[in-house]
Amino acid sequence: MPTITLRLELFKPTEAKQTMYRQMTAINTEFATWLLLHPEVNQATSKIFKEFSSDPFPSAVVNQTIREVKSQKKKQRAKTFRKMWCCFNNQNFKVEKSGDFYTVSFPTLEKRIGVPVVTRPFQQAWLEKIVQGSVKLGAAKLYQKKRKWYMALPLTWEVEATTKKKVMGIDLGLRYLAVSSVGTQSLFFKGSPCAFVRRFFFSRRRKLGKNKKLQAIRQSKNKESRWMKNLNHQISRQLVNFAITHGVGTIRMEDLTDIRNRAQSKREPGRSMHSWSFYQLKAFIRYKAEMAGIRFEEVNPEYTSQTCKCGHREKRNRQGLRFQCKKCGYDCHADLNGAINIGKAISGLAP
Ligand SMILES: [Zn+2]
Repeated sequence: MPTITLRLELFKPTEAKQTMYRQMTAINTEFATWLLLHPEVNQATSKIFKEFSSDPFPSAVVNQTIREVKSQKKKQRAKTFRKMWCCFNNQNFKVEKSGDFYTVSFPTLEKRIGVPVVTRPFQQAWLEKIVQGSVKLGAAKLYQKKRKWYMALPLTWEVEATTKKKVMGIDLGLRYLAVSSVGTQSLFFKGSPCAFVRRFFFSRRRKLGKNKKLQAIRQSKNKESRWMKNLNHQISRQLVNFAITHGVGTIRMEDLTDIRNRAQSKREPGRSMHSWSFYQLKAFIRYKAEMAGIRFEEVNPEYTSQTCKCGHREKRNRQGLRFQCKKCGYDCHADLNGAINIGKAISGLAP
């Protein structure tokens, strides 16, 4: 079952609310550490909280924390907890739509509250699905990051087994970020706009570096990440739409264990990509495909770039962007040939 985590920012919580969230986290963390050392931790139920404190605390959170502590104890990992965010299972946590915005409601120290959340455009469809009940909610986590408060919602959903036989291969690279192939159709995404933007941020940061403007450098990095993420959302959306249009049942991509080498271009440093960006693009393609009921498979990357459709395999078959078979003379765009071979899984599926 596919899973994603939706991170919803709480819309401008008041000082009073923020103080309460912090207090809840502090109590929860202390309770978790206390419970970890309790001799009867394995038999613990929500009643055990009374031994810890007589102050009111939502039992929904207590139950989730007990679960977490038990599982940590089993793995014998934690000795203490640095921070234990409050979690709410789907019986105690609700997402509702009121007018144009969405609210999340959950129990707190005082009472149950409903607070509005900020919705980004790509989150809209997910929120709609939650309200309709077509996705399953896991335990929601209330957490803080950089002065903002968020609710993290793990979502899972059922995918009906597809009967469609068509396979689409997608190759990721530098000069072309993504090339996909299904049957005789193909779709290309050039890497050049991306390289341009990377060079722009790169040279800007070099200037800033000379002046030691560390804050501005960090901001520039964040800005670049956001730009890249947005691009990855667009590319993955178009690739999956392309697959849907052509009746694809399975999307295949390479196992990216080795991507570090390919993300770097020694000759053209401006072209280099962060390897996280490829992982992100792949993750986006995967969940968008699975949402659309398309199967997702990983293949072994060996020889996908050097093998001809006649079966001849030779390193020299590929020269830059050109693929030309040394044996049969077959001529093709090198990345497209890669995508075709990935679609065929010529080196087998990844374990
Ligand atoms: Zn050949």
